[in-house]
Amino acid sequence: MRIANYIDGVFVEPQNGRYIDNIDPSTGKIYGEIPKSTEADVTHAVGSAKKAFPSWSQLSASKRSSYLLKLADELDEKLEYFAKAESKDNGKPLSLAKKVDIPRAIDNFRFFATAILHEKSEIHDMGISGFNYTLRRPLGVVACISPWNLPLYLFTWKIAPALAAGNTVVAKPSEITPATAFILSELIDKVGFPKGVINIIHGKGEDAGQPLVSHSDVSLISFTGGTTTGEKINRIAAANFKKISLELGGKNPNVIFSDCDFDKMIQTTVRSSFSNQGQICLCGSRILVESNLYTRFLKAFIQETKKLKIGPPMDPKSDLGSIVSKDHKEKILSYVELAKKEGGKVEFGGESITLEGEYSGGFYMSPTIISRLDMSCRTNQEEIFGPVVTVMPFSSENEAIQLANNSRYGLAATVWTNDLKKAHRIADNIAAGIIWINSWLVRDLRTPFGGVKESGVGREGGYESLRFFTEPKNVYVDLK
Ligand code: NAD
Repeated sequence: MRIANYIDGVFVEPQNGRYIDNIDPSTGKIYGEIPKSTEADVTHAVGSAKKAFPSWSQLSASKRSSYLLKLADELDEKLEYFAKAESKDNGKPLSLAKKVDIPRAIDNFRFFATAILHEKSEIHDMGISGFNYTLRRPLGVVACISPWNLPLYLFTWKIAPALAAGNTVVAKPSEITPATAFILSELIDKVGFPKGVINIIHGKGEDAGQPLVSHSDVSLISFTGGTTTGEKINRIAAANFKKISLELGGKNPNVIFSDCDFDKMIQTTVRSSFSNQGQICLCGSRILVESNLYTRFLKAFIQETKKLKIGPPMDPKSDLGSIVSKDHKEKILSYVELAKKEGGKVEFGGESITLEGEYSGGFYMSPTIISRLDMSCRTNQEEIFGPVVTVMPFSSENEAIQLANNSRYGLAATVWTNDLKKAHRIADNIAAGIIWINSWLVRDLRTPFGGVKESGVGREGGYESLRFFTEPKNVYVDLK
């Protein structure tokens, strides 16, 4: 697969003619090429988006909606094809891509295509003296930058509301997983979006992402990725007064009380720990268990984790596929070594796995459970972003809250208890943007999504996204 940039409605090579290898993580083999785009390509893309903005922003909401709905229908028809491409590019089980990633990308388009039809303006009436009305207008050219863990899911989470609100877009998917954004550009072309409304640039963060967020004609940045990258982008945005939303890393606590529904909790905790090889920003990586349940929990958790099958992503029997890259696998395994040095006990896993035959060069590892660490160690403070969890006991509600909040991150948390009042109390006291009580990863696209502390700035989702991708303008009319 030779990937091309999509600029001004045309598939183009990078101007420098250079490419990066695209690696299939399930085999470790090169299977394609990705443009190594630079500032010249970004300038071309931003210029085309700028040219397209006046007419796109002036189209009626229903016309913009119909383009997005057509794109959703096309994607729906090719769900299986996209799921296979996502699984090959990322290493995630095909079953997960089919059930979660691609359906959610379709939902993103449908949700924002229809949400825009129900938008209305606000009026603040001042009686007989006058009134205010508030217009919400698109900003212009916006930059959407997404990571590799949920490639099309997060790419569309940004471009769908940006386009629905009337902006034109330059989007950059992760260079580690560019395939589905590329094949989406083929569908965008087929649907016939006006030229320049959506431009997709491929390449590395420093070569293509940085010039994009720095470009003077880009007025808004929507970024999902690591906290260190987010900090860098935030500095650029601040110096240039750009509107910004940052969805960053996490180290989410999973707080388990002994009065929970044990079987449901165990099944869900296995998922919240190891789905997508633990490479979901919302995975619960610090498991806190009430001390009177600790031994029973650990035994059952290990027993259920042992049942997970690690295998080729395309095999329907695989629960875990491969880690996204060799570098990332090495980083995760280095944290297992660190945990041991810090006094942790590997209760299960912690190993690199080599499959047979054509998959022998793939990047596989076992799900890993570590105990006996306290909250201050690096293993518990730094984001690992892999199939590694730590398990710690707590003896009171207050201690659970303290441990949960002992982190520089604050993205999500999960609470397990059948005591309704306690559940609400804990939810209220944990510093995080998203809390699940007796569940995990239940997503309603209308709800605000994002984190606190170093997990991000701002919220996207539902009307939060439509507000973020528009600028309010208040107009006062004097009647006196
Ligand atoms: P990353 O920060 O390395 O890269 C994310 C994107 O930013 C990529 O497209 C990359 O090319 C681009 N980029 C890198 N440097 C850049 C720069 N200087 N300027 C502009 N763009 C640049 O993150 P990643 O490794 O792809 O993703 C994993 C991280 O994403 C984890 O920390 C995870 O927690 C986080 N994440 C957060 C959420 C959330 O909703 N909060 C969701 C998914 C992933």
